[in-house]
Order: sequence, then structure tokens, then C-alpha cells
Amino acid sequence: MSRQPEAGELKRAACAVVDRLEGDLVAVSHAIHSRPELRYEEHFASAELARALTDHGLVVEHPAFGLDTAFVTRAGAGGPHVVVCCEYDALPEIGHGCGHNVIAAAGLGAGLALATIAERAGGRLTVLGTPAEEGGGGKIRLLDAGAFDGADAVMMIHPEPANVEIAPYLANDTLVVELHGRAAHAASSPWAGINALDALVLGYQAVHTARHTLRPDEKVFGIITDGGTADNVIPQYAAARYRIRARTTRRLDRVRERVIACFEGAAAQVGATCTTTSTGGYAELRANRPLAAAFRANAEQLGRQFLDPASIPIEVAGSTDMGNVSHRFPVIHPVLDVGTVCGGHTLEMTAAAITPGADRCVVDGAKAMAMTCIDFWTDPSLRDRVRDEFDRDRG
Ligand SMILES: [Zn+2]
Ligand SMILES: [Zn+2]
Repeated sequence: MSRQPEAGELKRAACAVVDRLEGDLVAVSHAIHSRPELRYEEHFASAELARALTDHGLVVEHPAFGLDTAFVTRAGAGGPHVVVCCEYDALPEIGHGCGHNVIAAAGLGAGLALATIAERAGGRLTVLGTPAEEGGGGKIRLLDAGAFDGADAVMMIHPEPANVEIAPYLANDTLVVELHGRAAHAASSPWAGINALDALVLGYQAVHTARHTLRPDEKVFGIITDGGTADNVIPQYAAARYRIRARTTRRLDRVRERVIACFEGAAAQVGATCTTTSTGGYAELRANRPLAAAFRANAEQLGRQFLDPASIPIEVAGSTDMGNVSHRFPVIHPVLDVGTVCGGHTLEMTAAAITPGADRCVVDGAKAMAMTCIDFWTDPSLRDRVRDEFDRDRG
């Protein structure tokens, strides 16, 4: 009778696979970086990842779940089920300024390493290619399509200027504000008009005033997208777009109400009317602490030093569609240091995402995820703690 291999043995085997594949993984990371593609247009990146998985004998569905640039591959015959996510979309103008090429290659490495041992370890693995994190909500569409169904844990890594196993990610939403007035000749009969732009500007200023009373994690930023069409016509229409963020979805709802009240009040002053449309954003990330602690312990074994999550100011937080996944399944989204001082969505991060520091993130991210997955597969008490915390968080 064959004995169940030990976690340590499996981890050494997984890390050896990542070491052996390092050149390939880094090549995939750099290739994706060199051809940045926007949300839902990641044809090259998703094909490149699918090819790398297929080359190693895995069966890949691509496209998957009704999305052209999503893919999925599976390994293992039964047991606890872990999903590893690969993101690979870029940003307009600055390319891979969020370093998703690193996320993709690390997920690929973890997937290839784990696929070789899933059956032996008694676990199931899914590697999921998740398009359009940057404002496209790819994971929300994948959730709706059932791509995460049956998952016991979901993980990915994200490159940042520090190692933190639980980084804060806020709930967000985009609010489209439209003011409707009445057009009139601005010189000969302005009294016949209702100036929608005036209402918009008053509302914009009111939001500025309201901002003084928001909490540090409650953020409102907006731009005017339509301010009229002619300088001799009272604008009958004006519009703005606001990005709103808060620590929780519930708090986000209150901030959204305040922004709407600012514009409704402004519209009333001018005699205009106001309509607002919420485009539906991302939920806050609820990282699973026991699983995050396991990830940290594994990454520390690779020589990484972690910051105390409590020391990370909430002001630096962004948002991710992994937040929505975390409300349905136990999730970790640890961040790994690429060796920059700057955060994401900068040209500095674009440059940093193919440096030796970023390549180390690919390798360490792959190994730490693989080791954490092995812990999850082989340690029933960890699975219990992960589940307990998830249930408590939801309750
Ligand atoms: Zn980003
Ligand atoms: Zn990102």
C-alpha cells in the first residue's frame, strides 16, 4: 500500500518544478509585458498561458465560461479544491503598470508545479485565467458563470512595493451623474433656460465640501465628462463620473447616498433635474487570515520579510474584483515586493514589472502559492480554520 506523502516532501517537489521552469515562466511574464492588452482583449496573453499549460500536458479550455480571453485547466481526482487565478490585463497608456504579467506567470508556475502532484497529494486544482481586472469585473462574470463553483479556497499574488499577506482593498463603485436642464440662447434669452452645467458645478463643489467629513478610507473622485456644447447656448445637459471607495460595501452605500444628495440639492437650486446611475463596482476584499498566515510562513521560508498588515495605511488601498470572489469563497490576495518604492498604476511599476525583482516575484509567488496549496490539501485542521473564519466573516 502506498503511503500518503508528507507535506514537506510535496513542497520540495513542487519548488523543484518551479526552479526547473524558471526560464519559461520568466519568458511568459516578459512576453505578456511586451504586448499589453486591455480588458477583455487579452488574446495574446491568454493564448500564451494556455499554450504553456498545454505544452506541459494539461488540457486547457480556451475560451472558457463564455469569455473569449478566459481559460481554465484542472488537475487532481478529488479532495479539497483550490483555484489559482491568473490576471493578465494591462492599463491604457502605461501598459503593465499594475504588473499583471507577474501575476499570470506566478499562477502558471504554481499551476504547473501543483498539477504534477495533485493526485498524489489528494487534492484538486483549477488554474483559472481571469481577464479584465482593471475595471472590467472579469471575475464577477466568471463568478456568475460558475467558474469558482466547488472551490474550497482561491488564491493569487499581486506585485507591490512590499510583502504583505493581507493588504487592504476597498469596495468601489462608479457613479454616472447626469443633470438635465433646458437650452436657451445664452445672450438673447438666458432667462428661458435652465443651466445643467451650473447645477453640475454646484454639485461638484458640494462633493468637495462633503469630502472634509469623510473617513480616511472613504474616497470620492470625479471628472466632468460633459459640460455643454456651445458657448452661446445654456447647456441643457451636463454629466460627471465619480469613483467612490470605502472600506465596506455598506459604508460605500452611505458615501454614494451623500454624493447623490449633493447633486440633487444642486439640481434643486438651479431648477434642473438629476439622474444617477451606478455601474456596479467591486466589493472589499475579505482575506482569509488562516490561509494568509500559511502563505506568509511559506514565503518567509523563501527568505521574504513581511510587513505587519496593521501597519499598512488604508489610504494606499485600491480595489480588486477578487473582492467579489472573497465574499463567496475563502480567498487570499497577498502582495509580493518587486523592489520598487512606487505602487501600481505608474510608469515606474511598468518598468519594474520585468526587472530581476519582478522575476523573483514570479518564482517566489509560484512557490509560495504551491506550498500553501499543499498545506491546504494535506492539513485538515488548516481547512477547518479556513472554513470557520469564512463562515464567521459571513455571519
Ligand atoms: Zn490595477
Ligand atoms: Zn492589479
